[in-house]
Amino acid sequence: MKIFIVLAHPEEKSFNSALFNTAVSALEEAGHEVKTSNLYQTNFQPVSDKRNFTQLKNAGFFKQQEEEKYAVQQNTFSADILSEQEKVAWCDIMIWQFPLYWFSVPAILKGWIDKVFTMGKFYDNGKIYDHGFSVGKKAFLSVTTGGPEKNYVDDKYGNINSILFPIHRGILEFLGFAVLKPEVIYSVEKLADEERKMILNNWVERLRNIGSE
Ligand code: FAD
Repeated sequence: MKIFIVLAHPEEKSFNSALFNTAVSALEEAGHEVKTSNLYQTNFQPVSDKRNFTQLKNAGFFKQQEEEKYAVQQNTFSADILSEQEKVAWCDIMIWQFPLYWFSVPAILKGWIDKVFTMGKFYDNGKIYDHGFSVGKKAFLSVTTGGPEKNYVDDKYGNINSILFPIHRGILEFLGFAVLKPEVIYSVEKLADEERKMILNNWVERLRNIGSE
């Protein structure tokens, strides 16, 4: 299968980077083709604005979705957006690896989402959910948290599935992806080294069979 992994972590020795590197090796060893985007390493520019386009339809009043539809016709997306869109279009499975920031994705990944999933190419009027452009593809989140699992219950932080719902339902399923179970590693900094090593082993096991999930 063709698998695309996006990493949003600024430190190459972090546990997120270990999960990312482990995933690349495990998937390649299992015979999958892997493409990646390491957003901090490549200094991805996350601010979504006029620079998304090499040419504007209406330079006097910037309206992103209108410009996106125009750019699909004119092929005028900026090079950084085009290369990411190609990887999304290429893959069968997309994985986002990130630390939970404020119950959401880090800003660099939010910017990537804002820029890459353009109207007219990844969704359109009536082309969402079961009719989205990414129907037939799968996606899932691999997330680490600072907070312990016992806090991710309804009467404290809220259930992790509710926290991830805006990403699952508002982005991935909206685009047509079938969403697989998230890989959530709680309070990763407080675990013993041996526990983290076991987590990496379990991650390899899951990824070996990811094609059948
Ligand atoms: P790291 O600190 O990089 O790694 C943990 C440990 O694993 C380190 O000791 C590292 O050396 C070790 N390690 C690295 N590689 C390996 C390896 N191969 N084998 C074994 N050990 C290894 N948390 C929440 O719960 N909810 C929030 O809403 C939230 N919001 C945040 C907002 C911001 C702006 C920030 C900065 C943090 C927030 N956090 C939140 C905390 C954040 O989610 C955690 O700090 C993060 O998930 C930890 O992951 P990490 O990869 O950065 O850990």
